[in-house]
Amino acid sequence: MNKSEREHYARLEKIGCILCRTLGYGETPAQMHHIRRFGGKRDNAPVIPLCPEHHVGNSGVHKLGRKGDFEKYWGYSEEDLLEKLNELIDEN
Ligand SMILES: [Zn+2]
Ligand SMILES: [Zn+2]
Repeated sequence: MNKSEREHYARLEKIGCILCRTLGYGETPAQMHHIRRFGGKRDNAPVIPLCPEHHVGNSGVHKLGRKGDFEKYWGYSEEDLLEKLNELIDEN
């Protein structure tokens, strides 16, 4: 990981879980989730911060995401959350 990636990750960690934030739960400590589109490589994948529950829990993107159920359950897709994240980053 290079310096700018490290800085980016540190910023994402500060923002916390982007789904919790979007839902109004406040700032929740987050893990980094790579959005893999079209079987793309992990290295090039955009990253969003998600708390353990929303990442790998029963209502998380890894459990629900595969069949598109994550979006149905929460009303937001990974892409939607990435967009919200980018808006937050632009504001700061
Ligand atoms: Zn969360
Ligand atoms: Zn993940």
